[in-house]
Amino acid sequence: MGDKNDKAAGGPCPCGKGAFATCCGRFISGAEIPATAELLMRSRYSAYALRNEAYLRTTWFPDTLPEEELTSETDVNWIGLDIKKQTHTAGTDEATVEFVARFKVGGKAHRMHEISNFVRQPDAQGTPRWYYVDGSFPGDA
Ligand SMILES: [Zn+2]
Repeated sequence: MGDKNDKAAGGPCPCGKGAFATCCGRFISGAEIPATAELLMRSRYSAYALRNEAYLRTTWFPDTLPEEELTSETDVNWIGLDIKKQTHTAGTDEATVEFVARFKVGGKAHRMHEISNFVRQPDAQGTPRWYYVDGSFPGDA
């Protein structure tokens, strides 16, 4: 099978939008900062698919970052992302992204419907960037 990150580098992006290098790869590598919450959402999905723990932690808002490892469930295979809606009111630093992510556990398919909340604030270098804060699950209602 080889290393998943190596395999992804020259292939399609896990998020399904194009080639990994020009889609989420440029953000996960640190070369670029996602300009919108949707781009951050996509790159975080791809980071889950690639089990890139470090990227998931640096893009999570510090106040809501869980202590436990985010990618420990190695039997989860992420198989698709569908962005439903992004809302970002111009002039604010808050945005939401509604999406459906599909994954398989032990050959059985599941879907996760979430509305994620994002905020934009300066990082340690003073560069504004988006962070994942938390999410709600409209399907649970
Ligand atoms: Zn992507």
